Amino acid sequence: MIDQHLQQMLLTNKQKFMIPASLVATVNVTNSLDHAFLVLTKDRYAKIVVIDNDNRYRGLISLAMITDRLLDTRRIAVNRLQQFVVGDVMQTDAPTITDPFDVEENLHLLIDQSFLTVVDDKQHFRGIVTRRELLKAVNYTVHNFDHFYQIQDK
Ligand code: AMP
Repeated sequence: MIDQHLQQMLLTNKQKFMIPASLVATVNVTNSLDHAFLVLTKDRYAKIVVIDNDNRYRGLISLAMITDRLLDTRRIAVNRLQQFVVGDVMQTDAPTITDPFDVEENLHLLIDQSFLTVVDDKQHFRGIVTRRELLKAVNYTVHNFDHFYQIQDK
């Protein structure tokens, strides 16, 4: 359990914790791989969220997942970019969260993921919580804790 004072400080800039869906680059599960390839390359994100036409979260896609599908025995078959869609190669086993302010859960999950997808109870995509924003909160907390609390050795 995280101490409630620490928890409170980690959530000081609560409004920055989640990047809302409207500001997050996504691709549709039915988009061709060449579209996803372009978005990932141009936006320079390692991995992005995949949604469907009802704005439901469906998975994540990265450049590595795409190139893996393009690999032939001896070359990269670029023509396959038009033959497959995002849903054919995306990852579907990444953890999602429903509460962007559950710092305890986020800290655990962001050890292995660079961001977490936030969904509602019907799997609608709400936004992402990134390792970067959480690290900023940790940085603020460890540098300012003694401004708010007196620390005593046990
Ligand atoms: P950061 O911690 O800011 O480096 O973000 C970690 C990862 O979250 C990035 O590599 C992307 O995969 C994803 N990400 C961050 N911001 C966005 C965004 N605005 N749109 C899409 N993906 C994002």
